[in-house]
Amino acid sequence: MNVPFLDLKFPYIELKDELDAAYRRVMESGWYILGTEVEAFEAEFADYCESKQCVGVANGLDALHLIVRGYGIGPGDEVIVPSNTYIATWLAVTHAGATPVPVEPDERTYNIDPAKIEQAITPKTKAIMVVHLYGQTADMDPINVIARKHGLKVIEDCAQAHGSRYKGRRAGSLGDAAGFSFYPGKNLGAVGDGGAVTTNDIELADRIRILRNYGSQIKYHNEVVGFNSRLDELQAALLRIKLTRLDEWNDRRRQVAGRYLLELAGQQKLTLSHVPEWAESVWHLFVVRYPQRDQLQKSLTEAGIGTMIHYPIPPHLQSAYAALAYDRGSFPIAENIHNEVLSLPIGPSMTLSDAEQVVHAMRSSIVALR
Ligand SMILES: *Cc1c(COP(=O)(O)O)cnc(C)c1O
Repeated sequence: MNVPFLDLKFPYIELKDELDAAYRRVMESGWYILGTEVEAFEAEFADYCESKQCVGVANGLDALHLIVRGYGIGPGDEVIVPSNTYIATWLAVTHAGATPVPVEPDERTYNIDPAKIEQAITPKTKAIMVVHLYGQTADMDPINVIARKHGLKVIEDCAQAHGSRYKGRRAGSLGDAAGFSFYPGKNLGAVGDGGAVTTNDIELADRIRILRNYGSQIKYHNEVVGFNSRLDELQAALLRIKLTRLDEWNDRRRQVAGRYLLELAGQQKLTLSHVPEWAESVWHLFVVRYPQRDQLQKSLTEAGIGTMIHYPIPPHLQSAYAALAYDRGSFPIAENIHNEVLSLPIGPSMTLSDAEQVVHAMRSSIVALR
């Protein structure tokens, strides 16, 4: 590959001395679960997200699932979710026994369309789970207005939005509670699985602290039926170091994205994502739309450019959700997006000359496909 889709080893190369020292500190401490590193990371990440509380958990799916559980949402309840998202958003709802009710996205931003939410609300609706897809926040003000009017919780899926801002405020502080993933490929990634909940709701945070640890506050006293979903000390120690670089790494992504937006504008049949003036994206992914997506991907692969598709099949057409009985055509906007999207390389390791190579390969592929 001339330009790989993502270089996962890069953060280690850049921060080797600091990460190695943190690794040794944890190894030598003899304390590996729920200790001072997790506590410190929780305080630092809450601060970063401009949120009062942070609870470290085992992964992003658990973060979202435990929020749903923590609000007592379960069988018989409905949660509004985007039709255009990664399946984890829906799984968080169904794992709690509740029903996901999909709402179509805005075609220009790929995020849930606030204008379509109200018609999906029923007497069973308990929450709206928004996803800040590809690194750009959903349009939160109208969503919060609808939620307040109907007495619903707003849950943010921030798995792709560490550091993203909406009207100057950070993702993770824009609703009632937010779930983050630290899967290695995310903007803030561990060297394994990890996740966190941020919230200003102290009672919810306390319930999730109990739920993540076997339903227990005092060892061997179990108040509720809990889970084992803890962020471990080693991941927390490594994440603390990477967190100090997150803004810088997001800036580098922004520079690459800026170059793509400038140099790929006006290419025939190519759609670039729209960034509203209130959004400060962290460009988890740089997604373009192109009618002959598969041919474009093949041509880029031949030119040594790594790409991926996020995502090839929407949740409502996955066999996992056959029981929900949706068909092809149930959510046409999401389906069209899934048929046409392609993610170009982006990440903190990329140089502007890498970006130039991608631009060059894109332009010549598009000319050849005309
Ligand atoms: C990655 C991701 C998740 C799940 O995170 P895990 O840590 O892999 O469980 C949830 N939602 C979205 C939108 C994601 O991209």
